[in-house]
Amino acid sequence: MGIREDLANWLEFYRELGIEEFYRREPGSTAPSLAVPEGKLVDQPAHAPLAPTAPKPARREPPPVPSAAPPVPTLQVPRTVAAAAPIRPPVASFSLFETPAPKPTGPETLEQIRADLGDCQRCKLAGGRKNIVFGEGDPHAELLFVGEGPGADEDEKGLPFVGRAGQLLNRMIQAIGMKRAEVYICNVVKCRPPGNRTPEKDEIETCSPFLFRQLETIQPRLICCLGAPAVKTVLGIKEGITKIHGQFYDFANSKALATVHPAYVLRNPREEKILREDFEKIREFLKRK
Ligand code: URA
Repeated sequence: MGIREDLANWLEFYRELGIEEFYRREPGSTAPSLAVPEGKLVDQPAHAPLAPTAPKPARREPPPVPSAAPPVPTLQVPRTVAAAAPIRPPVASFSLFETPAPKPTGPETLEQIRADLGDCQRCKLAGGRKNIVFGEGDPHAELLFVGEGPGADEDEKGLPFVGRAGQLLNRMIQAIGMKRAEVYICNVVKCRPPGNRTPEKDEIETCSPFLFRQLETIQPRLICCLGAPAVKTVLGIKEGITKIHGQFYDFANSKALATVHPAYVLRNPREEKILREDFEKIREFLKRK
């Protein structure tokens, strides 16, 4: 059998497997033609073998008909298909028909993080809580607030910032032309510390991985840390909030800004100015696209 027939048989074989890259159609023609002009066919592969090569077929016969275990598509390039033996991945470790579909990967959802949190008993705050306060808001928010931990109202309702501090936060959000539903709000710890005390180191260490997963999933443009525990947890900054507030920091693919906690402003009304100024910076930042 001549080389042209030999080649035609190989190409027919690949076509049946659905591999048609070796062909191009001439304008006005229905018959397949070779991608490379016939006279340019070469005897040696133009590239190093990518996998163990089968011996060059000595016999001039059509390729064997695929049986129970069909041959794997070759990694051959058209230029060398006529003359070189096809390069095949090792059949024992790879089969088109037996390889399970790869699991889809990607960021986890907030629902998955919440499900993982479950009826959390990981730290001592669990014993005193009524409800876990996971977080609330737009999962695609550009702006995300991190508070310290739920108070009594939040513990009662299972929602963040729904008490007096929350009402002040709502006013600040509205003052920069946004709605609460457009942002995402969560806390460093998800259970109420007794007597509203500051969360302790071991509680933060246990709970903050869930916060970081929320940040990773939402990837807001700006994270606003409300008060020192949020600043320390998210940014690792221990300096006083009144020194570093209003400055922008990098956090993964987001920016982060620290400001005073609304509850602090409720106790020190003259400091509302700080909150207002920092929220203006937030407004300016979000205006930039
Ligand atoms: N203070 C916080 O830090 N978080 C809340 O959810 C409510 C008050």
